[in-house]
Amino acid sequence: LTPEQFREEGKKIIDWIADYYENIEKYPVLSQVEPGEIKASLPEQPPQKGEPFSQIMHDLDEKIMSGITHWQSPNFYGYFPSNTSFPSILGDLVSSGLGVQGMIWATSPAATELETRVLDWLAEMMDMPEKFKSTSTGGGVIQDTASTSALTAVIAARERATKYESNKTGVRQKLVAYVSSQTHSSLEKAIKMAGIGSENLRMIDVDDQFAMRPEMLQKQIQEDKKNGLLPFFVCATIGTTSSTAMDPVREIGEICRAENCWLHVDAAMAGTAMACPEFRHLKDGVELADSYCFNPHKWMFTNLDCDVFWVANRNELINTFSILPEYLKNKATETGAVFDYRDWHVQLGRRFRSLKLWFVIRHYGAEGLQFHIRKHVEMAQNFASWVRESDDFEIVVEPQINLVCFRHKSDDDFNMKLMNTVNETGKAFFTHTKLNNRVVLRMSIGQTHTEERHVKETWQLIKATAEHLLKNRKA
Ligand code: PLP
Repeated sequence: LTPEQFREEGKKIIDWIADYYENIEKYPVLSQVEPGEIKASLPEQPPQKGEPFSQIMHDLDEKIMSGITHWQSPNFYGYFPSNTSFPSILGDLVSSGLGVQGMIWATSPAATELETRVLDWLAEMMDMPEKFKSTSTGGGVIQDTASTSALTAVIAARERATKYESNKTGVRQKLVAYVSSQTHSSLEKAIKMAGIGSENLRMIDVDDQFAMRPEMLQKQIQEDKKNGLLPFFVCATIGTTSSTAMDPVREIGEICRAENCWLHVDAAMAGTAMACPEFRHLKDGVELADSYCFNPHKWMFTNLDCDVFWVANRNELINTFSILPEYLKNKATETGAVFDYRDWHVQLGRRFRSLKLWFVIRHYGAEGLQFHIRKHVEMAQNFASWVRESDDFEIVVEPQINLVCFRHKSDDDFNMKLMNTVNETGKAFFTHTKLNNRVVLRMSIGQTHTEERHVKETWQLIKATAEHLLKNRKA
């Protein structure tokens, strides 16, 4: 394509995306295709000759769209949101257009310095401890996902605990890590990948609100120490995946301080709520954390991938991950006056992801973000009140922010059938989990364009479907 052709095709694609959003409610939220259907519609061999753009766009409509689950639909309530917004899409487009590889400061100073500035802004907007800012001992870095942040934290913790020996010798010490039974599975994966071994991961019991019990953590640490093990890492979650349970960060943090364990706080979804002062009590004690992450790509209107990872002491990261081959040596690095973000995580090459975040924060402003977050929480609370008023449904745990865990008072099979039947209509999509071994339905409200009417209609649909299924069951 010449720049002129690019201009022409590009405008069509912007129109295509705008049309998509205008018509998004016409698509079934959950893709209805069977396994293998999309692949079978595509040629087995790649084209030998280039094809016109019009043909590619035609096939996008005809062959790809039926296999899309519409995460951006206002009726998407599954998992946790992965919302986006037009400013984010445009910021990402600019990033693709610039095609910058920002592995070190010298390969695009703006990519590094915008990232540093935007993450300091966010720390300020969310009232994070000073130590997480680049102007202090720490700083922030954008990772692809919360899973990568977990891995980065575990490896940095491992090195600190072994005095940077395990980077040389492999893990020889008997390290042991702690999460709760509700912690996201990415932590277990990180523990496996970091060479700690899942046998050395303790799953601490939770209370009736599914939050980690600090006294059980303390007890387990003492027992492990008695057995000659070296406790080194604890993950506390602000907003667990199943039910947005809130681990008591302060109490866990105090134990970590006393026991010399690295405290990582995983606030992947709920972290966005910290933009609003009224939710900041949920992070009480965060000043005791060594690292903290949250995903703007979940609830902060910023498209995948974008995870913010803050550390209290950046030198602990740099000492863990820094390797300086000849081909990356440069004057700026030698001065020590710049951040080279390749030293802050696993990967070398990195996209210019702060651009989309910058677009989002500048477009909405702190107040605009607060407005939308509050609206989502209010819609979730309204949904919860309708569940409470109903004779047939019950709330399983009181919703803390924007996730409602509820169930029909009938049995597990009925709840699964209800969810699948609603999802098959294509009108709405939500998912389930298990709490205390019982099926729980999850209404996760965080799509950029979700309005009260969508939530209301979905509740009506759920109720009507339940009534219909019950009637058929009796018949
Ligand atoms: N942590 C929590 C609490 C989550 O809910 C999730 C995903 O839903 C993750 C981590 C993993 O997120 P990512 O997909 O960014 O790795």
